[in-house]
Amino acid sequence: MKRDYAVIGLGRFGGSICKELSAEGRQVLAIDLDEDRINEFKNIASHAVIADSTDEATLKELGIKNIDHVIVAIGDNIQASILTTVVLTDLGLSKITVKAQNDYHEKILKRIGADQVVHPERDMGKRIAHNIISNNILDYLELSDDHSIVEVKAGRKMGGNSLAKLDIRANYGCNIVAIKREKDINVSPAAEEVLNEEDILIVIGADKDISRFEKHLV
Ligand code: ADP
Repeated sequence: MKRDYAVIGLGRFGGSICKELSAEGRQVLAIDLDEDRINEFKNIASHAVIADSTDEATLKELGIKNIDHVIVAIGDNIQASILTTVVLTDLGLSKITVKAQNDYHEKILKRIGADQVVHPERDMGKRIAHNIISNNILDYLELSDDHSIVEVKAGRKMGGNSLAKLDIRANYGCNIVAIKREKDINVSPAAEEVLNEEDILIVIGADKDISRFEKHLV
């Protein structure tokens, strides 16, 4: 089912969301104050309009109430981001994703009714830090304060062994939820599955267990 999206603020983050949604064939209304930004997105988004999103009347005229999901990606201008979010919640929109610049901004956005607050710089920083700390962790996704999903290379120690033999759940307390092998991904690996050294394992668990597991990989 096709859905309608609006992206407000076409900086690096909003611009990238707009491009990706459009590439996936979604209808996107792109809004920015800046004429150059709008010109850049004219041929990418279904509609691209120069507008100030803090102005309720303008957003109403643009038919924002008929949009399923609005993404507020205004960066440095925190005041404009907050005001826009207030206008959107006042208009009764329920699916609003807002980019936060810092923890304080995030707190306010949640308080005023943004149903999803994203913090891309902080989250990407964490992912890269985990990647830097560990040579084995290829990617990292935080699930909660103490649980995550990581991608690790099976390596020499695991390669050639079956999942049953390795018994990672019993030995390390975490679970292999999927195995990436070249272009294939096996999302329900069987116990008798034998790992290759080059396999990428997608592991879920408590951070302390993942850390223990990851230290034993070579
Ligand atoms: P990023 O850090 O993701 O690159 P920027 O701060 O560079 O974000 O970009 C935010 C965009 O939001 C800019 O293109 C800016 O013109 C736009 N913007 C800022 N305030 C408003 C507003 N009130 N209405 C619409 N667009 C706005």
